[in-house]
Amino acid sequence: MNFLSLFARNLIEGPYTDPFPFKPAPTAKRFRGKIAFDPVTCEACRQCERVCPAGAIRFTRTKDGLEFDCWHDSCVFCGNCEFHCPTGAIHQTVDWHLAHGQADKFSAVEHGLIPFKVCPSCGGKALDSAPATAGITPALSAEEAGELRALCPKCRAKFIKARRTRT
Ligand code: SF4
Ligand code: SF4
Repeated sequence: MNFLSLFARNLIEGPYTDPFPFKPAPTAKRFRGKIAFDPVTCEACRQCERVCPAGAIRFTRTKDGLEFDCWHDSCVFCGNCEFHCPTGAIHQTVDWHLAHGQADKFSAVEHGLIPFKVCPSCGGKALDSAPATAGITPALSAEEAGELRALCPKCRAKFIKARRTRT
C-alpha cells in the first residue's frame, strides 16, 4: 500500500489507538491490575504476605488492630496473593492507573485495618477477622456464622468443638 492510499484509509477509518485520556480505554477482563483488600472478609492468616515475591504486602499490629498495606510501586502483579487467599479478601482489579508524581510514591498504597473487638463470651480482646470456616461440616448457618465471627479465637474453637459434639 503506497503512502497516499494508506493516508486516505487512515483518514476514513480513524486512528487504531484508544482515545485515552479523553475517553476511558477498554481493559481486558483478566487484566492484572492494582491490588484491592477487603478487611471484612479477611481471616488475618497472613498467607498473602508470606507468598508475595516482591515483599509488597505487610501486616502490622498497632493499637487499633492489624493494619494491612500493599505498596503498588513494589507489586509485580503476579497474582500469588489472590491465588493463595482462602476467602477472596485480596484480589487484583483491572485498574491500571498507577502513574503518580514522585512526591506521592510512598502514598501509592492500598490500606486496610482489621480492628480489635471484645469477645462477647470471655471479654477478651481479639481481632475482628473473618473466621476460618473451610472444612466445617455441616456448613454454618448465617446465624451461626455471625455468632462465630463475634468470638475470639479460643471461644471460636470451643464453639466449633461444642457444635461438633451436638451434630
Ligand atoms: S487477605 Fe487473604 S491471604 Fe491475606 S491475610 Fe487476609 S485471608 Fe489471609
Ligand atoms: S500480585 Fe504478586 S507482587 Fe503483587 S501484592 Fe500480590 S503477591 Fe505481591
